[in-house]
Amino acid sequence: MYRLDHHWFNSYRFSFSTNGINYDSEPVQRFIHKNISHLSIGITIDGTERKHDMNRIWKPQTRGLENPNSGMQISERGSYKDVVRNIPLWLEQFPGGATKVTISSQDIPYICESVLHLYSLGIEEVNINCVFEDVWNDGDDLLFEDQLIQLADAIIDNSYYKKHSCSFFVESIGKPLDPINDNQNWCGAGKMLAIDAAGNFYPCTRFAGYSLRDKAPIIIGNIRDGINKNLLRPFLSLDRLTQSPQKCKECEVASGCAWCQGENYDAADTPTIYQRSTAICMMHKAHVRANNYYWNKLYRKLETERDNDIVSL
Ligand code: SF4
Repeated sequence: MYRLDHHWFNSYRFSFSTNGINYDSEPVQRFIHKNISHLSIGITIDGTERKHDMNRIWKPQTRGLENPNSGMQISERGSYKDVVRNIPLWLEQFPGGATKVTISSQDIPYICESVLHLYSLGIEEVNINCVFEDVWNDGDDLLFEDQLIQLADAIIDNSYYKKHSCSFFVESIGKPLDPINDNQNWCGAGKMLAIDAAGNFYPCTRFAGYSLRDKAPIIIGNIRDGINKNLLRPFLSLDRLTQSPQKCKECEVASGCAWCQGENYDAADTPTIYQRSTAICMMHKAHVRANNYYWNKLYRKLETERDNDIVSL
């Protein structure tokens, strides 16, 4: 575009999601200074040190490298300290930077403290969701609900909602969906090309071999031959009703109940992308109950404040 003097030159954007460990290194900073007007960078920090270090660990070091057979694991070192030192620089360069937190069964007890910790680091937008895999144990939904209610209390009692957001609390979730008009697919698989190092195309990175447990990768083309439209076609035909079981079609709290096309495929009985996994069902219902608590409490508080303002006038 530069050579053609095309008016689209300069109209591009690189969006990075990074663990942030090398953020302050000289090459990364040089790249940022050179391209800052074309960059969005999100650093993933999972919350408090104990929550973050449960999942985000360095590759284990081994002892006795001179004798490979004696290799021993020394420790699993978490990366929290290596990431958190870069948060101030990141927020200075990208004010309003948001982070993304992932919840699995074992880290449910640390949800509330983790979101509040991220706020205390200056991160105002926390996007957070449960994994789609079938990892949940009996009682996890109640623990999850309890954590979200604690978080709702903290956000409302301390008025964090004025400047901060947490994606757990969204007014539109937890309602029935119209069986005709609410029929769009949840995720963008098939419309957001993923490319691996060998030049293969996937409908999303979740269909690459490294993302899948049981199924074969789905490759829809490559950099030499382009996209095979026939292989892409099933993805472009996806909608909510053709892949959902009856319980989801009739569900009273269906809005906001998400799915991941890659996990649907990996968990399906056959190699199909048309079988929705509902492993997240009880967690979504707990989420909806806590979300209702949040909005009920917030509106009551705002009404009380408004009434007090009227009285004082
Ligand atoms: S997975 Fe459960 S909560 Fe979600 S839409 Fe289906 S029935 Fe409703």
